[in-house]
Amino acid sequence: MFTCDFKDGVWQKPEITPYAPLTLDPSARVFHYGQAVFEGMKAYKDDNDDVWLFRPKDNLARINKSAERLAMPAFPEDVFMDGLKALINLDKDWVKPGFGNSLYIRPFVIATEPAIAASPAVEYKFLIICSPAQSYYSGDVRVLVAEQFSRSANGGVGYAKAAGNYAAQFYPTNLANQEGFQQIIWTDADKHEYLEEAGTMNVFFRINDTLVTAPTSERILDGITRKSIIQIAQDSGITVDVRPVKVTEIVEASKNGSLKEIFGSGTAAVVSPISAFSHKGELFEIPKQDKRYSDTFKEKLNGIQYNKTEDPYGWRE
Ligand code: PMP
Repeated sequence: MFTCDFKDGVWQKPEITPYAPLTLDPSARVFHYGQAVFEGMKAYKDDNDDVWLFRPKDNLARINKSAERLAMPAFPEDVFMDGLKALINLDKDWVKPGFGNSLYIRPFVIATEPAIAASPAVEYKFLIICSPAQSYYSGDVRVLVAEQFSRSANGGVGYAKAAGNYAAQFYPTNLANQEGFQQIIWTDADKHEYLEEAGTMNVFFRINDTLVTAPTSERILDGITRKSIIQIAQDSGITVDVRPVKVTEIVEASKNGSLKEIFGSGTAAVVSPISAFSHKGELFEIPKQDKRYSDTFKEKLNGIQYNKTEDPYGWRE
């Protein structure tokens, strides 16, 4: 694991050591005030046993954006990239080649300073841990459109990968699970009128041949898969409408047959097709498509990630 401490106003010398438990003071501020941010990224192996990252600097930029919102210090890009590459090189044998196999990479920052006082810490630890990962076919994904709970609010921390955002989703997601839904489509906290994110993924709707997704905002995470899909779709000649998406519009599109696909996007599965959604007690099924946009996007992104195709964007490194 990669670790680097922040002390006396500067990041100290980083090190890579065997994965092991941390020793922290019980009064470390992270346990009390939740100063914790993280990232999720992957390394992919090609047929020549070379290992590739996908837009890693965007993850660092995002963890720093998250850190700023939680009054935590930014981490330098060169130290991150050098540390990440050294770590992956050591862990190379854990990465299996082939679509679906990857090394999941979890960078995170926690407030380590011992102090029971509700103010920002002056000591932090930046860590990167890794684990081999495999993506499985997840089966039919049915989602519940949020009508009571919210994951983020105007002026809040929804755009940050703050640990607490995830903790707050568990309870409503458990309730949705009990009703037979795998995930929740989060709506705006105000009136639950607009569709914003699907669980821990961004969400896309295909209406006829147009791809529609909500603009990123202070409530929505700026997903790296999301922006990559938008780029690939536009370059394939697909019209992409980035605009607020009303629940009533999607219900209407489902009723009149123009809603062809809903899918979530994220590092974990690239795309996750949604087979049905429930709103105000009514279930709307998405008819099966022969050639889904979501399959094409997954294929194209995997091609770049696993070094099977050209990378016209310079995303692979
Ligand atoms: N939204 C949320 C809330 C997430 O946690 C994630 C996963 N990082 C995403 C969207 C997708 O982001 P990305 O494509 O960068 O993985």
